[in-house]
Amino acid sequence: MDAREELISRFFRYAAIESQSNAHSPSLPSSPGQAVLAALLADEMHALGLSNVIADENAIVTAVKRGTRPDAAPIGFIAHLDTVDVGLSPVVQPQLLRFEGSDLCLNREENIWLRVAEHPDLRAWVGEDIIVSDGTSVLGADNKAAIAIIMTLIGQLDHLEGHGDVFIAFVPDEEIGLRGAKALDLARFPCAFAYTIDCCGLGEVVLETFNAASCEIVFKGISAHPMSAKGNLLNPLLMAVDFISQFDRDDMPENTEGREGFFWFKDLVANDTEAALTALIRDFDDTGFDRRKARVAEVVELIARRYPAADILNTVTDTYRNIISHLASDDRAAALLFKAMDHLGIEKKILPMRGGTDGAVLSARGIPTPNFFTGAYNFHSRYEFLPISAFERSLRVALMICRLSAA
Ligand SMILES: [Zn+2]
Repeated sequence: MDAREELISRFFRYAAIESQSNAHSPSLPSSPGQAVLAALLADEMHALGLSNVIADENAIVTAVKRGTRPDAAPIGFIAHLDTVDVGLSPVVQPQLLRFEGSDLCLNREENIWLRVAEHPDLRAWVGEDIIVSDGTSVLGADNKAAIAIIMTLIGQLDHLEGHGDVFIAFVPDEEIGLRGAKALDLARFPCAFAYTIDCCGLGEVVLETFNAASCEIVFKGISAHPMSAKGNLLNPLLMAVDFISQFDRDDMPENTEGREGFFWFKDLVANDTEAALTALIRDFDDTGFDRRKARVAEVVELIARRYPAADILNTVTDTYRNIISHLASDDRAAALLFKAMDHLGIEKKILPMRGGTDGAVLSARGIPTPNFFTGAYNFHSRYEFLPISAFERSLRVALMICRLSAA
């Protein structure tokens, strides 16, 4: 099997395993499918002859491909096992279609189409094979394309003249707060620097992520029967709505782009006594990030003054920090990545990632970890698509990184 066929068959095999993460579960992994996928990958790694293969009770899988050049820096590759839950089907049924330039029908029965006018990124891939979902789910190239790339890379390393140690980690629950990367025992991943291969179309490189925090704001009101409600009832749902209305709509994800940060109201669960609101804070800039946290606290105060009989609790949790400062202080990973892409003639598109990666956690923990493309587009959407030739070029970048690091 050549590398292209191997990538495709691995991707279909991994996509068939349901592995949506579940933000409402406190366990790690948050869903059983991730453990199933972890066990399969560990078996395959054993079969490929990797050393130190461990799949633990948290569905964290690590292994190393021992190098032939002890002087080369040990490199890591990390990918996540979970697919995102955006309310679509957990069952992923990928299909390989030839794109001839006209709209692609993903699902005839449900009349779901991937339309060129709505997804102009498609135009670059006329005449090529692309993988899509059946329209009822995400494709999950985020991040199973990366898993397929890393697993295919292992066999390809044998064709190199030499390489250093290559460490591999597959972790659960990236999509729900980078939980797997936070729990990863770094003694099992002792590399000098690492790469995530997460998101992004051909050529895209991420050296900068958001700073991210999550606020849980609980509004405690007072319930009452309408017989005695006047002057007594304190409706927690209305307090939450008042709270949200203090924030500018122009400062939300649907109205921001590039390096702009935002507030994102994600979840509101309410009854007669209590309303729990989840608000996310995102900002590339450290000062802006702190200012946004202060703004949430200020609005909590304002609403508390408006409803003196209420109780309002705000709990702020930092989720991840921008990787930029870590990558600036140790630029080996980024320099090698650029060199690999230059060698392959792949144009670099450096973009600030409006999100986080497991690399944000690893970088903060001392392993500089930039991100490069899987080759897929439209992540977290039923219209996610993966052009095969972009997918192959991602593998070539990973292989070139290993080759150049030993040169
Ligand atoms: Zn991802």
